[in-house]
Amino acid sequence: MEKFAGKSIYPAMAIGKIAFSTKEKQQVRRTKIEDAAAEIARYEEAKAEAVSQLQGLYEKALKEVGEDNAAIFEVHQMMLEDDDFNDGIKDKIENQQVNAEYAVAVTGDATAEMFANMEDEYFKARAVDIKDISERVINILMGNTGLDSLSEPSIIVAEDLAPSETIQLDKDKLLAFVTELGSANSHTAILARTMNLPALIGVKIDKAWNGKTGIVDGYKGIIIIDPDEAALEEYTAIQKKDAEKKELLKTLKGKKSVSKSGKKVNLYANIGKPADLGTVIENDAEGIGLFRSEFLYLGSDDFPTEEEQFAAYKKVAETMGKKRVIIRTLDLGADKQVDYFNLGQEDNPAMGYRAIRICLDRTDIFKTQLRALLGASAFGNISIMYPMIISLDEVKKIKEIVEEVKAELRAENVKFNENIEQGIMIETPASVIMSDVLAENVDFFSIGTNDLTQYTLAIDRQNSKLDNINDSHHPAVLRSIKTVVENAHKAGIWAGICGELGADTTLTQTFLDYGVDELSVSPSFVLPVRKAIIESE
Ligand code: PEP
Ligand code: MG
Repeated sequence: MEKFAGKSIYPAMAIGKIAFSTKEKQQVRRTKIEDAAAEIARYEEAKAEAVSQLQGLYEKALKEVGEDNAAIFEVHQMMLEDDDFNDGIKDKIENQQVNAEYAVAVTGDATAEMFANMEDEYFKARAVDIKDISERVINILMGNTGLDSLSEPSIIVAEDLAPSETIQLDKDKLLAFVTELGSANSHTAILARTMNLPALIGVKIDKAWNGKTGIVDGYKGIIIIDPDEAALEEYTAIQKKDAEKKELLKTLKGKKSVSKSGKKVNLYANIGKPADLGTVIENDAEGIGLFRSEFLYLGSDDFPTEEEQFAAYKKVAETMGKKRVIIRTLDLGADKQVDYFNLGQEDNPAMGYRAIRICLDRTDIFKTQLRALLGASAFGNISIMYPMIISLDEVKKIKEIVEEVKAELRAENVKFNENIEQGIMIETPASVIMSDVLAENVDFFSIGTNDLTQYTLAIDRQNSKLDNINDSHHPAVLRSIKTVVENAHKAGIWAGICGELGADTTLTQTFLDYGVDELSVSPSFVLPVRKAIIESE
């Protein structure tokens, strides 16, 4: 039994099998084999596993990102079953007496090259798919755990995880995250919290852990490898206590989030995709205060179409019924990168071409999203929220574009909510300083304390070396919140907090004193925050 320490980003614990995820490119070596028939059988088994993984991915994608995006996984399955491809591999194993990995790599490269040299653009593009399927089979043959190929709920150990990888993971297959890199305020950390999973960062990881049993203790910030009987017993008891505490919190379901002196707070939940709705309902959130719509883009290989977005927004709106659903428009850039946007390298991506800046530049992308949002507004109580605002000018430009889109929809007889609420995120010092002016021009404020802390303190939220001073309790951040709420109320609008600080129950009383109208937190924090509100003055 060994223990390794890290920094916890979600206080919970898990016991289970470790799956080590590696991005290192494994060198495929040519080795001589004795038994060709056995090697071919090994290949067939790996191929069958690859086809089954692809079927799983197809079904997941179909549910989450629609038929068009899911189709690629069906194409990959067909390619894997292709006779020429399979004969080429088996032929090499048999006639050259080589290992299956090598036969797949050589056949894959030759087939990919053949496609790449074709005239037709469609066939040319298939070269990438051939490489993809060959790599999948090789990884299975070499025992590399791909994150999309987990066969049982596992503790994921990786050097680092990007938000685009995390969002694609199947929550049912995850017990915990443990990474060497990453920071407490990264979006991967936020996703772990949304998924209600224990997560550690800054752990010196080891590939040899793969397949072993581990215990992740998100209270103490440690991972135990190969726990002995005593440790297993101790942690099984803690797990039981955790479950009891959760049961106790459940008694707060259906209760109002009102303090002792009668202050009512709208207690909403943050989500990244419609699949998170289950935990929202389970934890009795009073609405959705932040739907990070960019995760629809991150979970996809190409721009999600208007129809796909409409389906996602409508599902959330309909599920929540009369409850408010605040959908934030695309907030890509910085740590949230997608290849097909071609955002390019930037020296300071957090201060770069991101969020509303992209939308006001690429109005085609923005309008597609607005059409989907407005269309879905006919099916529930949707509000739109714009991220990274720094000026009144931006708000005016956004409103002009919204009016154009509304006019288009009217002309097409598409029903939508003419009076849809439009608010902005307060996450830059500029928006705090201008909050009196901005408040006259929008319907609500939602304070994004993650970015507001980053920009106010000039601390890159992705930089784990600065985690110890990345402090949202800094008086400059708290004063900003107070100012913003005061300016909102002077203009007669409401102000909430949707950054991670909103879930910090040591500040619940302070937020109530400031007059904060809404707190939007990861679903699993809804009931603990309700408890804190009920116990506050
Ligand atoms: C924030 O910045 O506080 C916020 C809620 O947005 P995100 O974390 O997605 O940047
Ligand atoms: Mg932000």
